[in-house]
Amino acid sequence: MQLLRNEPRGEIAVTITSGWRAYTATANYEPPACPACGERAEPIIGAESADPFIEVVGSWWETRVAPEHTCPLCDHRAVITDWNLDNAVACSSLAITAEMYGAENDLRQELEGEFGGQWATMHEHI
Ligand SMILES: [Zn+2]
Repeated sequence: MQLLRNEPRGEIAVTITSGWRAYTATANYEPPACPACGERAEPIIGAESADPFIEVVGSWWETRVAPEHTCPLCDHRAVITDWNLDNAVACSSLAITAEMYGAENDLRQELEGEFGGQWATMHEHI
């Protein structure tokens, strides 16, 4: 990874976590952004479920198959991995944790370019 080799602030700690887990940005949580309208829909007060997205994540975690999710604003329906899950919740067998504020987008581009697949960025302030 070019970015990790060229980190201008010197050495950085990188942790690689394997094993099926759900990841979230905890205090920085944002609802997922719809791939059609781009909105991050908050749960609808009075809806059948307090937060339908949490049920989708529960199914994803249990089955390891990404389910579909329907946007409460525009009714677009798509597999959850097609949504923008940055700072929301994502299930994965791999996570890379690095303390490198301001360079996370560059790292993500390198990861996507090197390995392909779908990635989500979670910002967690410590
Ligand atoms: Zn939408």
